[in-house]
Amino acid sequence: MENFQIKAPTMTLTTGPVAIYPRVQEALSRPVPYDYDPYFLELYEQVCRKAGQAMRWDEPALILQVEPAPAIEAAAASLISAKDTVLNVASGVYGKGFGYWAQRYCNRLTEVEVPYNQAIDPEQVAEALRANPDVTIVSAVHHDTPSGTLNPINEIGAVVKEHGALLLVDAVSSFGGMDIHPIDCSADIFITGPGKCLGGSPGLSVLAVSEAAWAHMEKNKDAPTASVLSLLDWKNAWRKEENFPFTPSVAEVVGLNAAFDQYFDEGPEVVWRRHALTARACRAGIKAMGLKLWPNPESIAAPSTTAVTIPEGLTSEQIISTARKIFGVTFSTGRMETYDKLIRIGHMGPVAEPIYAVSAVAAFGAAVRHHGISVNIGTGIEAAMAELPNGG
Ligand SMILES: *Cc1c(COP(=O)(O)O)cnc(C)c1O
Repeated sequence: MENFQIKAPTMTLTTGPVAIYPRVQEALSRPVPYDYDPYFLELYEQVCRKAGQAMRWDEPALILQVEPAPAIEAAAASLISAKDTVLNVASGVYGKGFGYWAQRYCNRLTEVEVPYNQAIDPEQVAEALRANPDVTIVSAVHHDTPSGTLNPINEIGAVVKEHGALLLVDAVSSFGGMDIHPIDCSADIFITGPGKCLGGSPGLSVLAVSEAAWAHMEKNKDAPTASVLSLLDWKNAWRKEENFPFTPSVAEVVGLNAAFDQYFDEGPEVVWRRHALTARACRAGIKAMGLKLWPNPESIAAPSTTAVTIPEGLTSEQIISTARKIFGVTFSTGRMETYDKLIRIGHMGPVAEPIYAVSAVAAFGAAVRHHGISVNIGTGIEAAMAELPNGG
């Protein structure tokens, strides 16, 4: 029996982990299969194929039995050799963070950075590649979640391909919520996970890996094997007749399968549209209350996140805890450099629905008003509604 002091949230409007689809919840509640049971072996192969299809990739996807952050570390460890020069493109906390891992394995690291409310210009990447012709690997984040901003990843990918380097793309919090696929952005390693726009539980990672990236890893003498940081260990695990390096998180895999079924049954384009509509309504409401969005310009704001600048004189804790106490609504704080500068309202998975945008505007508005900022919540709600078909 639960015996907590704190009530469970009424509404989770975070940027991950997120509320999961009922279908995923049902899948997670089934009996845990034995990993070598023929049922699970078939399911595992199917989910890898389904994930590949969702990513519009020719090959089955690679599933890693860890959260995306350690999966990105594993990709760095596996791909980057002591001979590689890495160009890291950083427009936020995740982008910058990759540089620390890259540094551990590479010959030399060079970076392109912009302030954390802006996006990388592909021309900056082209310039950095001209200045550093020895770059063999480029890394970029599509949606740097702690900033709520998108980088023009397809254009960046084209520049990287032109140069001939391998490209690693963190699309953890954009894939499934908008039109983004590894082929379109020329990614050699494309990383996502179930716990963001796919509305699944957060314990796994899903990757697309190109032949060139596999070849690079196979040549890399320092690429880990028999290790949690290994990609190579799992390369063929999707095949029914192959062994697993260690027991997969079977329950999570069953949940992931349900998340992809949800995605396909609803239809990717339909899913993307409701993410975009929810974000648009939410942002209209936030702005109409006189509050400021963090991304500059607004056109780089991600459809899965609304990052709101914290009004002068308020703290992150004040807004978060007031929204939680009064409404039971959970928002996400900023992270590291963006902490206390912004609050993030997530529009991911099942809460990418307009009614949650309206609720978020009400809860956010009430939280800042509670701390003495004069906002008109009614105006915010009307502005959010005005974005909906037929004005709500
Ligand atoms: C959520 C997220 C990750 C993964 O972080 P976890 O702590 O493993 O959830 C990586 N990159 C981005 C851009 C993310 O939003």
